[in-house]
Amino acid sequence: MTAYEYETHTYDVVVVGAGGAGLRATLGMAEQGLRTACVTKVFPTRSHTVAAQGGIAASLSNMGPDNWQWHMYDTVKGSDWLGDTDAMEYLARSAPKAVYELEHYGVPFSRTEEGKIYQRPFGGHTTEFGEGPAVQRTCAAADRTGHAILHTLYGQSLKNNAEFYIEYFAIDLIMSDDGVCTGVLCWKLDDGTMHLFSAKMVVLATGGYGRAYFSATSAHTCTGDGGGMVARAGLPLQDMEFVQFHPTGIYGSGCLITEGARGEGGYLTNSEGERFMERYAPQYKDLAPRDYVSRSMTMEIREGRGVGEHGDHIHLNLSHLPKEALAERLPGISESAKIFAGVDVTKEPIPVLPTVHYNMGGIPTNYWGEVLNPTAEDPNAIVPGLMAVGEAGCASVHGANRLGSNSLIDLVVFGRAAAIKAGKVVDPEAANPTVNLAAVDKAFDRFDALRNASGAIPTAELRLEMQRTMQSDAAVFRASDTLKEGVEKMTAIAGKMGDVKVTDRSLVWNSDLMETLELTNLMPNALATIVGAEARHESRGAHAHEDYAERDDENWRVHTISRVDGEKVELSYRPVITDPLTSEAEGGIELKRIAPKARTF
Ligand SMILES: Cc1cc2nc3c(=O)[nH]c(=O)nc-3n(C[C@H](O)[C@H](O)[C@H](O)COP(=O)(O)OP(=O)(O)OC[C@H]3O[C@@H](n4cnc5c(N)ncnc54)[C@H](O)[C@@H]3O)c2cc1C
Repeated sequence: MTAYEYETHTYDVVVVGAGGAGLRATLGMAEQGLRTACVTKVFPTRSHTVAAQGGIAASLSNMGPDNWQWHMYDTVKGSDWLGDTDAMEYLARSAPKAVYELEHYGVPFSRTEEGKIYQRPFGGHTTEFGEGPAVQRTCAAADRTGHAILHTLYGQSLKNNAEFYIEYFAIDLIMSDDGVCTGVLCWKLDDGTMHLFSAKMVVLATGGYGRAYFSATSAHTCTGDGGGMVARAGLPLQDMEFVQFHPTGIYGSGCLITEGARGEGGYLTNSEGERFMERYAPQYKDLAPRDYVSRSMTMEIREGRGVGEHGDHIHLNLSHLPKEALAERLPGISESAKIFAGVDVTKEPIPVLPTVHYNMGGIPTNYWGEVLNPTAEDPNAIVPGLMAVGEAGCASVHGANRLGSNSLIDLVVFGRAAAIKAGKVVDPEAANPTVNLAAVDKAFDRFDALRNASGAIPTAELRLEMQRTMQSDAAVFRASDTLKEGVEKMTAIAGKMGDVKVTDRSLVWNSDLMETLELTNLMPNALATIVGAEARHESRGAHAHEDYAERDDENWRVHTISRVDGEKVELSYRPVITDPLTSEAEGGIELKRIAPKARTF
């Protein structure tokens, strides 16, 4: 037993994370009068959501006909029929309301001539169940939508008396012996004090784990801490093999150029100056979904039509667009292209390459954000006292591939849903559950062992080994031999966690120790990703397997459930929920039209 003193804070709800999902949940909980704390390792408005550029999907029909059923259909098809149908319906149906709420909270959306919320086209968003033209469904605040949303939600949360604990690092969940989550243990980064948050509901909103890869558009703080905490609590992760590569990361830096650039009329070309997407996706061309475009780009490069000295990237052209449109609609990316590629977008193309961008997998939940711990008897059994929302969670609305602008809407719809549910299940009058002191000791022991780790491998070195292996062996295209080798390499790398070396033993602003804790979180996420990928013998969405090139609905329309313990991963499978919430036809639109079919564009 390690002796650390700690202060105990008692709340109804503790939200871990202050990105879009965490803030929307925090705001919703506080609005209902639940005593709510939000704990975050970075200042709220520095969360990765601040970097979201392109926009947020909702069928407002401001720029042409649209409806939630079309949005739902596109999401189902985009997921390559791996998403849970009830959650996808809930997302598409609730989206307009959630966006109007954001507008009323004060998000400064760009406007149409008539003063309505401006909407742009985005990949995979269509009309008439994928048979009509592309739709303008993505609501935008120029190309700084995430920034606008985050600042508004932070202000509103403060107004509603949510309490913020900023630059507190959540180390581990505190679970009772009978599997109820009762709180979370945190380390205050700037003064080294320890804090136990006791709560009737803990909400994990810790974001994705893009940094398991070498080249990613996500912030360095996207280290899958929620997934790590859940794995250590003996709970599973879901569908981790599905990792989204965004077609247009800037070559070299990985910095993102939003899909909104293609939404506004930009297009990709190869070394022959050809608009090659016309060949791969005759109907939607550059606005086909991301997995599709990333694969097409990779094929062009492989077949020798890449651009640049090494023929290893692709060009994104914007120079034909009116200068005013670039300045008004895409000011942020014009600046990024200048800084990170030295390119003036009004004159030259931007060099781009598919770059890791989003994790479809995460902590399994139902559409109320309640965390699932599937058993043989009940694949939808919940973990009392624990919710997960945002990129950390897997509701699952993105299935095997997420559509652009469907993450921001996922954050607010499910952040909001979690608050609605908590309003029903959390009793403000009840006493908080008893804290399991053995679990607190265990969390401190782990922390202390890492603080004093005196092995042979510095954290940064081990992290790089992991990132390079994931980048090369769990890439856009995958094959049996490289996946098998990748699993062996990753198992060995995870095994070296016990030989890590931390040089700084202090408790104040110890970034060496914080990065080591983060690495212990990245590791189970990365392992689950590559082990799940090796086991899945089909191609679906972002998982393109060269030895199993077809989707196999008979055997593989199932969620991968992975339980990670050290370097061991145990896999099982959970059925996909195929029934929509609405059984009857609504507005003359029958939802049975979403039965699986080939996914072409
Ligand atoms: C560059 C970029 C552009 C994007 N553009 C779009 C877009 O236009 N439209 C769209 O729909 N999606 C977009 N996405 C995806 C989307 O922005 C993300 O999926 C989403 O913002 C994730 O939000 P989140 O709230 O789940 O997590 P984040 O915003 O990543 O926030 C995570 C929070 O958790 C906290 N946290 C994490 N670990 C701990 C810990 N151990 N202790 C305490 N706190 C912790 C962090 O401090 C942070 O507050 C984009 C993503 C990127 C990277």
